[in-house]
Amino acid sequence: MSFFQASFDARSAAVRVRFGAGVRHKLADEIGRLGCHRALILSTPPQAEGAMQLAADLKGLAAGVFTRAAMHTPVAVTDDAVAHVRSVDADCLVALGGGSTTGLGKAIAYRTDLPQIVIPTTYAGSEATWILGQTENGVKTTVADPIIQPEVILYDAELVRTLPVDMTVTSALNAMAHAAEALYAENRNPMSTMLAIEGLRAFAAALPRVIENPQDLDARGETLYGAWLCGTVLGQVGMALHHKLCHTLGGSFDLPHAETHAVVLPHAIAYNAHAVPDLLAPVAEIFGGSSPGQALFDFARSMGAPSSLRELGFKRDDISKATDLATRKPYWNPQPVARPAIDELLLAAWAGDPPAA
Ligand code: NAD
Repeated sequence: MSFFQASFDARSAAVRVRFGAGVRHKLADEIGRLGCHRALILSTPPQAEGAMQLAADLKGLAAGVFTRAAMHTPVAVTDDAVAHVRSVDADCLVALGGGSTTGLGKAIAYRTDLPQIVIPTTYAGSEATWILGQTENGVKTTVADPIIQPEVILYDAELVRTLPVDMTVTSALNAMAHAAEALYAENRNPMSTMLAIEGLRAFAAALPRVIENPQDLDARGETLYGAWLCGTVLGQVGMALHHKLCHTLGGSFDLPHAETHAVVLPHAIAYNAHAVPDLLAPVAEIFGGSSPGQALFDFARSMGAPSSLRELGFKRDDISKATDLATRKPYWNPQPVARPAIDELLLAAWAGDPPAA
């Protein structure tokens, strides 16, 4: 199979990536490489112990710990964190955690231009992008700027072993969604397509082994490798209908981020497979199904992912409102985003039905 395209534009960010079980122990070297001496360690409250441990290991290189990262990056938390950065005179940031903690580090960097080192503990992939989503007064806005891009990523498989199995599955499907939509992105390029296909393949091969044994370090490593590829691709190309639906459901109906991705993905991919069957053919090949949407649906179910929006708390009566919001200012999409079809898509996702053929 060739990924050649007759014309394309491409860009990639200058990010230093170190990968390997135990690589978090190289953190002091990385702070030194950045020319920094006073790192502020960030985490969510449940991951405070890990953040404290990192700080203890860093000895004099740790300026402090801030453990109040929260989902959707509330601006009020960022303001407090920036004040903390100044009070401890930090010269770099270390984010230990998933997309929420990475989001806090990016939000601080956006305001201070401090360099960031991210140690991801989920598969969300935010560490590989210069996109920041933040919330204020209940409204989520997104900014994209090169100063948001973390400078260093340390992928340490030992740290994802504690991710509970249900979150492992939904986080993996969240990552896979970036790769699946990258296959038909309007601004895709041969490299983004290669990354996307290899990212999907890594999850298809390793996620079942992680579910069987969450402590399997090789399998955890391969899923983290998939997360790096899928996150990198998210930083390179635009997303389409699937992400628009998930942002609508998360932003206006407060549905949980990764779980919503897990439920919607097979339906959005089935919808777009009508327009771009060739571009999505690798999905069916990798996951072994009759069609890309069905293959993802079967894979997600076999991994124990939630299969309906109903079980996530979404109400059938809200389908029409969600369709309004998702179709009013749609993202570019290979298949026209038309009202009756989106109603049907959301109804099937709400009910947990297989995607429409
Ligand atoms: P998260 O960071 O909110 O983590 C969920 C929970 O799991 C938290 O309580 C966290 O402390 C805990 N946790 C994380 N790793 C763990 C581990 N290894 N063991 C035990 N517990 C662990 O969830 P997420 O899905 O990684 O991130 C979601 C957020 O990231 C959303 O706000 C989303 O919008 C954002 N995001 C942004 C981008 C981007 O490019 N800007 C990309 C993807 C996601």
